[in-house]
Amino acid sequence: TWSNVEMGPPDAILGITEAFKKDSSPQKINLGVGAYRDDNGKPFVLECVKKAEQALTSGNLDKEYAPIGGTPEFCLETAKLAFGDNSPVIKDGRNMTVQGISGTGALRLGAAFFSKFYSKGKDFWIPTPSWGNHTPIFKHAGLDVKSYRYYDPNTCGFDFNGAMEDIAKIPEGNVIVLHACAHNPTGVDPKPEQWKEMSALIKKKKLFPFFDMAYQGFASGDTVKDAFALRRFIEDGHEVALAQSYAKNMGLYGERAGAFTIVCGSKEEADRNMSQMKIIIRGMYSSPPIHGARIVTKVLTTPELKNLWLGEVKGMADRIITMREKLVAGLAKEGSSRNWQHIIDQIGMFCFTGLKPDQVERLTKDFSIYLTKDGRISVAGVSSSNVDYLAKAMHEVSK
Ligand code: PMP
Repeated sequence: TWSNVEMGPPDAILGITEAFKKDSSPQKINLGVGAYRDDNGKPFVLECVKKAEQALTSGNLDKEYAPIGGTPEFCLETAKLAFGDNSPVIKDGRNMTVQGISGTGALRLGAAFFSKFYSKGKDFWIPTPSWGNHTPIFKHAGLDVKSYRYYDPNTCGFDFNGAMEDIAKIPEGNVIVLHACAHNPTGVDPKPEQWKEMSALIKKKKLFPFFDMAYQGFASGDTVKDAFALRRFIEDGHEVALAQSYAKNMGLYGERAGAFTIVCGSKEEADRNMSQMKIIIRGMYSSPPIHGARIVTKVLTTPELKNLWLGEVKGMADRIITMREKLVAGLAKEGSSRNWQHIIDQIGMFCFTGLKPDQVERLTKDFSIYLTKDGRISVAGVSSSNVDYLAKAMHEVSK
């Protein structure tokens, strides 16, 4: 029956982990995965999450289905976290918010909704480069994916002029995908002033901004600061779409807690969109998983747990910033004459080192350091005990 089915290629990032596992070197480092590790290289379950889970289990909760779009409490709290407690969007009930199966599922719901109901076209514009899963997610929903300039390999920074030139050429009504903060894979974000200019241009061009916010709090350590771009676009009068994920900032990776929102023109419009979104969800998976969403709701609605969480997010962001600084100091100590300042300037979990594919290959072959071919390292995989070894290896392959 299936003789027509060809063997597909393995997932690029999961393939790296497979190779890493097989390596017997005691000094091996996996910088491929996008999951936070503590300074001992171990997966990290946040204290606020453990406390929320304890409270949940002692509450003897049932396992009944969640509503199709998730619980109203979860949807309200997640929207408040993104737009701000006092946002007019929430006060006016203009947000259509549903739980998604983490960030990926939220993006997929958004893609399905746009594919079915967005009347101004099927073109989704993503930055070059973007998270590798954006293209498959959008294409899977029948959308067409196009790209605008974003990263400048010469400066290892944001190509603001290139981005503005390309955005100015996007046809009216098209959808532009924006990483709200901590751009993956480059770690390069626009500055607030640049966001303001982008917002104005996107408004003028009548494009529809679709934010992917997978790292709120992870970029600067502050959830409000990291929501700057999104909130600025709202202030500027945009209607936006938003995919949120609690994988990174609450460490809930496998719990699959996230949300999808469309900010509409009125509550009445939001209600109509919600009725159709429920029909889409019902046909895809009926209703979302409950445990992760309950944890998120508990943390966000319990002041003591929320404070604990904000401190823990900052702790994760700060450890990553410290590792960036140590790596650059280590490279200098090894005698590297190259300018590595971008490692410090870039933010969030990932760093685009600027290493070329042959240098990446040597890092893996000669030093058992695993990363994607594009030279991206997950700084979350760097720790006090491996940062000097990493600096030495990076210097060896780049001198
Ligand atoms: N968007 C971006 C840019 C990401 O980096 C990620 C996580 N790798 C996601 C969305 C969604 O991840 P998840 O489905 O695990 O929430």
